[in-house]
Amino acid sequence: MASLFLVSTELYPEWPIAKLPHTSPHIANILLGYLLQMQEVESLTLYCDIGGWSIPLNYKPVHDLLKTLRIDPYVETPIKPSDVLQAYAPWIAGSLLVLLFVLAALLKIGRLNTLLKKHNQTIERFNEGLEAEVRKRTIELEQANIKLQTLARTDALTGISNRRHFFELAERYFHIAKRNQTTFSILALDIDHFKAINDRYGHPEGDELLKHFSATITSQLRKTDLFGRIGGEEFAIALQNTSLLQAEHLAEKIRRAIEELRVSGNTDEPIRCTISIGIAAIEPEDKHLTQMIKRADTALYKAKELGRNRIVTQTDIP
Ligand code: GH3
Ligand code: MG
Ligand code: MG
Repeated sequence: MASLFLVSTELYPEWPIAKLPHTSPHIANILLGYLLQMQEVESLTLYCDIGGWSIPLNYKPVHDLLKTLRIDPYVETPIKPSDVLQAYAPWIAGSLLVLLFVLAALLKIGRLNTLLKKHNQTIERFNEGLEAEVRKRTIELEQANIKLQTLARTDALTGISNRRHFFELAERYFHIAKRNQTTFSILALDIDHFKAINDRYGHPEGDELLKHFSATITSQLRKTDLFGRIGGEEFAIALQNTSLLQAEHLAEKIRRAIEELRVSGNTDEPIRCTISIGIAAIEPEDKHLTQMIKRADTALYKAKELGRNRIVTQTDIP
């Protein structure tokens, strides 16, 4: 390759001249000799006439040739990392800073998330504990309520229905029997000479007798029968779907069971007692339970009058 810088045209002073590999050196030398002998042309009127040379009509082969020869602008200059670093130093530094900032933010967010999860778990555990405690307390409260309701309707000494509960339920039974026109009976019971028993054995022994007395009668009753302590040693039984005759049979069974009852007391002799029973059955003209109770009470007083330890029904009263 040779250059014609000294004798080149003014318009293209840097025109290079090159030899292709397949061009014979001999021809190349002749051509070079000819070119070196070329004189400067005074007046250039046309680009296509430069000392007998013209510019290429098509530049592609020229470019191809330059590429093949790796001549400017196709010189392969390897780009070194240091060049890149130098050229983009501010950008790289900025990007690194942004990256660092993002990483720090991500780290912070991650830490905050872990902390949040921990707090959430603590709150969840606390809530679970709280719910369990509320459930436990609710159950306890429900049980206490049931106990309280049971206590409110139970006689403390004997465990049977108290006066208030007895009348409440008996009233309901009365109206059901009336509406359905079914049988319904009431038994009024009173322990005979209970004062004398208390006097003889003592009040606590009297209590003990009341407990056994209640248990004995309960054992003679059906689940649907209602047994209540109306007063100190006065009791009542409400019998659903039970006629006067059926009530009389049951009363007799009860009277005998009580007559046979023996409760060991503080003396060698066991405590025993008898009862008087008055019976009333529902009548079509009855409007209130009290009417039945009144008839049962009258029958009971009659039984007392007649000598106690006996049963009197409303039909025995004139
Ligand atoms: P009657 O045959 O006429 O019924 O005679 P009674 O002695 O049973 O009747 P009274 O009404 O005279 O006496 C009832 C007694 O019952 C008096 C009272 O001290 C006793 N009493 C009432 N409630 C209780 C109680 O809860 N425990 C004990 N131990 N005694 C009681
Ligand atoms: Mg009595
Ligand atoms: Mg009495």
